[in-house]
Amino acid sequence: MPLVDRVFRSRRLSPFVYGALALLVFLALGALLPNYLVYLAITAIVATIALIGLGIVTGTAGMIALCQLTFAAVGAWIVSLFTVLQVPGGYLLWLVAGGVVAGLAGVVIGLPALRLRGVNLAVVTLGFAAAADATLLKTQFPGAPQGTKVPRPEGFTDDRGFFVFCAIVLVVIAVAVHFLQKSRFGSGWRSVAFSERGTASAGTSVRLSKLSAFAVSAAIAGIAGGLIAGQVGTAYPAGFNTIQSLALYVLAIVSGSYLLEMALFGGILWVLIPELLKRLGIPQDWGFVVFGALGIQALTTNSNLGQDLRNAVTRRRRRRLQAAGAAAESGLVPLGEEDFATALTTAPAHGRAPRALLTVSGLSVTFGQVQALQNVDLTVEEGTIVGLIGPNGAGKSTFVDAIAGFLPQHEGTVRLGDDALDGLPPHRRARLGLRRTFQQDRVPPSLTVGDFVTFISRGRATVAETAEVLEFLGCPPAATRISNVDVGTRRLVEVAANLAAKPRLLVLDEPAAGLSHEEHVAFGQRLRLIPARYGTSILIIEHDLDLVRSVCGSITVLNFGEVLASGDQETVMNDPEVLKAYMGETEML
Ligand code: ADP
Ligand code: MG
Repeated sequence: MPLVDRVFRSRRLSPFVYGALALLVFLALGALLPNYLVYLAITAIVATIALIGLGIVTGTAGMIALCQLTFAAVGAWIVSLFTVLQVPGGYLLWLVAGGVVAGLAGVVIGLPALRLRGVNLAVVTLGFAAAADATLLKTQFPGAPQGTKVPRPEGFTDDRGFFVFCAIVLVVIAVAVHFLQKSRFGSGWRSVAFSERGTASAGTSVRLSKLSAFAVSAAIAGIAGGLIAGQVGTAYPAGFNTIQSLALYVLAIVSGSYLLEMALFGGILWVLIPELLKRLGIPQDWGFVVFGALGIQALTTNSNLGQDLRNAVTRRRRRRLQAAGAAAESGLVPLGEEDFATALTTAPAHGRAPRALLTVSGLSVTFGQVQALQNVDLTVEEGTIVGLIGPNGAGKSTFVDAIAGFLPQHEGTVRLGDDALDGLPPHRRARLGLRRTFQQDRVPPSLTVGDFVTFISRGRATVAETAEVLEFLGCPPAATRISNVDVGTRRLVEVAANLAAKPRLLVLDEPAAGLSHEEHVAFGQRLRLIPARYGTSILIIEHDLDLVRSVCGSITVLNFGEVLASGDQETVMNDPEVLKAYMGETEML
């Protein structure tokens, strides 16, 4: 991708400007804060760092990690150990080392997340925190018995200096996380939170997305832990216990700490609430009750303080964007006569010797007692559009799932060109050029249209190509938030994004559901242009037989999991068996 494109796309300058401004504010605070607040301010900054990390796993990737401070303890432990061993390199290097080791621990704890979700994952991570309580944290940190103190970095040794040092670390981490969130990794995290199948279909490994979220999150917590060691000199285990991790998790949820400024807000609450309680003469442990109550509020209303605050601040801007989005959504209009005349002449060249692109033979799938597919053969030739039709429950979606790699236990073989796909996981098949869309909405609402195209196309489409394919399918512009796009149009965005990936074969599972009749016609016209325009062949599952007639050269009909008829459109549509199967089903007769 050209450099200008990239800079334009990620608006690379502004985060640095924000970072510099934040740093100036922190420098001013470092000079102006009254003495008794400086130490608390360090704690707030360190908590902010831990919350930024937690925000990646919980807010962005949608998983649960109740052991964030255990990762912090790992970082603190490493820094303490390196102090005792006098490892060369100094505090900054030890801090990084603590982050790396904590990140590795994050990968290990993330492994169960590959199989577990929700409450089960909560139990595993909580168990890890409790196990650490009972082992790692029962023994003292290295150097503690001898009273060895972790040395703060030179030039930042007093509290004010160390506050500034922590602020610098925070800003560096915040900017780095901003770019990570914007990158394909970040889109992968958001996508995995919304739909694992959607993620795999984009050619992104679900395992890698989940593990990387855990690793980055834990590494950041490890750095926070190393800072705590520097702050207190001799780290003590009680600061990293399970109950603290739970409280931090609640704070991440309450504040919405996947948003960077909200992590700071959460970090401030982390010190403010206990401090207020102390001043009111209430034991500080009651802070956990306050956090618990806030957490219940956030979880039951499914909202968070941070997002609410941010919404209030940005309401006007969002209204404007929504208006722009709404105006852009009705973009799919039928092509004029002339345009479409051109389309007809560029339709699949039947004169050429046909080359098989997708070859499925003997495909059988059973779900328990249900034989969803039985010995199904299907071929899609290069440059053509093939229709797969059949009554509800005939096995069409099952067929797509099987060839896309989601049903590894199927019988039969699937080839794409010269590649045998059997046994490959979904993301590998996607990378080999087999893309599919879903019957259900699997477009993550937290992305913009442009981010989604970048994610699905694995960064292959330039800004110009993205704009072109979006316009081609009448989609809203790249800057529109998907949450502002109606469900029917989201399906079009999904098709556009997959086209931008330039696949060899695109399988569409009822893509036109949710579109008006006029949009149906317009969509059919665009489909016919696709093989010549993008070099992509299409297998389309569709209920609307008008649409099927207008785009598909050949058709396969499934009924009760078996091929009822297969061949060119004319023959299949006039087959008496097909007519019988469809009687009372659709408007075919
Ligand atoms: P279509 O897409 O043609 O409407 P499907 O492929 O969704 O049909 O379903 C085919 C058959 O397989 C149906 O009888 C359905 O109930 C069954 N089926 C689909 N998915 C599953 C599943 N995960 N477990 C059990 N049965 C399933
Ligand atoms: Mg279906």
